[in-house]
Amino acid sequence: MAPQHPEEGEWGGVAKRRKAATATDVSMELDILDCPVCYHPLRPPIFQCSVGHVACSSCCANLPDRCHSCSTTGYNRCYIMEHVVDSTKVPCLYGNLGCTKKITYYEKEDHEKVCPHGPCFWPETDCSFCGSTSMLHEHFASVHMWHCIRLSYNKAFRFRVAQGSTVLEGEDGHLFLVNMVLEPVGGVISLFSIQPNITESNFKCKLAVSCPEMSYSQVSQFQMRSTNLFDGLPKDRFLFVVPKVLLRDTSTNATASVSVSVSVTLIPP
Ligand SMILES: [Zn+2]
Ligand SMILES: [Zn+2]
Ligand SMILES: [Zn+2]
Ligand SMILES: [Zn+2]
Repeated sequence: MAPQHPEEGEWGGVAKRRKAATATDVSMELDILDCPVCYHPLRPPIFQCSVGHVACSSCCANLPDRCHSCSTTGYNRCYIMEHVVDSTKVPCLYGNLGCTKKITYYEKEDHEKVCPHGPCFWPETDCSFCGSTSMLHEHFASVHMWHCIRLSYNKAFRFRVAQGSTVLEGEDGHLFLVNMVLEPVGGVISLFSIQPNITESNFKCKLAVSCPEMSYSQVSQFQMRSTNLFDGLPKDRFLFVVPKVLLRDTSTNATASVSVSVSVTLIPP
């Protein structure tokens, strides 16, 4: 007799495998997976009263020992509901921006906060772009015909910062925005990491300008702020103010520029 896979002979095993193969798409009202008390998604451990009313663990801890719905006393673990929430996968909100992840329903919000496909915007009023950072990159190149300035990390390089916004691309494809606005005191320069999630960025930068003829030099070093540019440029950013006397072409506001040495460092995690 040919050796049999232990499961092969069991009807239960075959049925299980068939189900696993077919149970891919279901539709359901997702609010049944929310705690009826606090309305947050249920996540294990989940509890139920003897009648079957469920509640999340933190609501159970905060409620008196009485069901929120029917007032019977005592709660027990509801393992079947835990299996249901663990196996309910939903697509990421940013599927149309390139995220193909299917996430457990109760982890959806956490994922979307850090999803690398979350949207970025463009701070200038002449463009209403909204898309992922890779789309932003593509948009600059094809619609605005801009070429990104490439930069290598940990290496100072000099380039001419002009009035308005310019995009820099790191060696790993990460995008940065350099912005200069002309104020009565001079050119106010800021530099950001463009990323969908507004967290601390993993980049430090060092900006320097110098003018040997005037025996002037100025250096500033800071951890870059990250932004998705939704509200334009972040208000709480570091500013690098270059004295007006060092700017070139300040006759019309649109052409002012200054040569700045920029060095970007990736902070190890
Ligand atoms: Zn709750
Ligand atoms: Zn109840
Ligand atoms: Zn995602
Ligand atoms: Zn545009």
